[in-house]
Amino acid sequence: MLNTPQLPSYLSKENIGPWHIYLQQVEQVALLLDKSLLPWVDTLRRPKRSLIVDVPIRLDNGQITHFEGYRVHHNTSRGPGKGGVRYHQDVTLSEVMALAGWMTIKNAVVNVPFGGAKGGIRVDPRQLSLAELEGLTRRYTSEISSMIGPDKDIPAPDMNTNAQVMAWMMDTYSMGEGRTVTGVVTGKPVSLGGSLGRQDATGRGVFVTAREAARKLGVSIDGARVIVQGFGNVGEASARMFAQAGARVVAVQDVSGTVYNGAGLDVLALKRYLADNKTLLGAPDCETITNDDFWSLPCEFLVPAALESQINRFNAEHIAARIIVEGANGPTTPEADAILAERGIVVVPDVLANAGGVTVSYFEWVQDFSSFFWTEDEINARLERIMAESFNAIWQMAEDRKMPLRSAAFVIGCSRVLEARATRGLYP
Ligand code: NAD
Repeated sequence: MLNTPQLPSYLSKENIGPWHIYLQQVEQVALLLDKSLLPWVDTLRRPKRSLIVDVPIRLDNGQITHFEGYRVHHNTSRGPGKGGVRYHQDVTLSEVMALAGWMTIKNAVVNVPFGGAKGGIRVDPRQLSLAELEGLTRRYTSEISSMIGPDKDIPAPDMNTNAQVMAWMMDTYSMGEGRTVTGVVTGKPVSLGGSLGRQDATGRGVFVTAREAARKLGVSIDGARVIVQGFGNVGEASARMFAQAGARVVAVQDVSGTVYNGAGLDVLALKRYLADNKTLLGAPDCETITNDDFWSLPCEFLVPAALESQINRFNAEHIAARIIVEGANGPTTPEADAILAERGIVVVPDVLANAGGVTVSYFEWVQDFSSFFWTEDEINARLERIMAESFNAIWQMAEDRKMPLRSAAFVIGCSRVLEARATRGLYP
């Protein structure tokens, strides 16, 4: 339980949720920041604005049902809010606040001109038809329309949302404006002002930062064993890129369970099997292992790419990876971080490792504003450069100041945010 006077009245101390993890990380970094920034640190400890909305929809059977939705702007000191929209039955305000906080820091770490935001709906989208999902998305967009806009806050896909959901959001917002506003969301279909390379961008960024870490540590990607939790947008793309680079993806876990093949899974075949069967279990050329056994598999790379708090004090002792590359947001609890550091396991933190998505979202936003579109090679090259440069700056700081990569990333990100805040000054 966190005993802090900063906790807002709308969160309960007994059940703070993921905001607790974010706050603990901020507390750790506060001690490392330049003294001149300390008067502003409280800015990071509270979201700028949080909206809770009721989202009623008519189901296909004629019934009306209600869902709870959220949009949070954590900080907009460096630019408009930016962050995904998550559809999941366990989404809470606390989770959306934490995800928005991580977006603030992530956008500053890769130095794109955005603040941090996030949204979500407490819904299991697997229970809805396509028409119901469209109705849900349109009503949610309409309910949060006062918060979003191309120079205000730009949503993007997150768990269980995709390019189609972004197309519906863009269309709904545009109807309200009476004109087509492509720049209001990113992660759109390419035919509607989306960017080439956005689909794979987060996974590509995970792979690039893994490769850079491997170089520093003298680990070869060729033949390396990789295990991946989550086989969606982020997990699948990063697994595919590891495999293309000659690594062996020996285990993949998703909501259906865990599959294993010591010689390396066929990632493309697994993706096709999942699309056809809606489960990983029973895929050819692999065996099923328990979800618990997944965490102790010996490997060079572990990529968590699903939910928060998956690496925690219960499994951190058993993890047998050399490098953890955080595709998911908040997958490692602070207790687990300490255990992993003690055991010499290097963690490439979420605010760096999964920033490829928002980096190409930034490219998409710029392309929409100028109505001039770049080639996929240009996008991938610019993404690689930003990810590699950000990684190297963080690695250097971690070495110079003898701190973990997460602390170094937070020092760089938080300093940029607080410098912007301090320079702008307080209104009025
Ligand atoms: P997704 O919906 O495409 O995929 C999520 C995956 O997680 C699925 O394979 C699902 O089966 C699996 N999963 C869900 N619950 C699980 C459980 N209890 N155990 C094991 N696996 C489980 O989502 P995504 O877009 O790939 O996002 C995954 C993570 O990456 C999230 O933390 C998200 O915030 C983060 N992220 C996503 C992006 C992006 O561009 N999509 C960018 C940055 C960070």
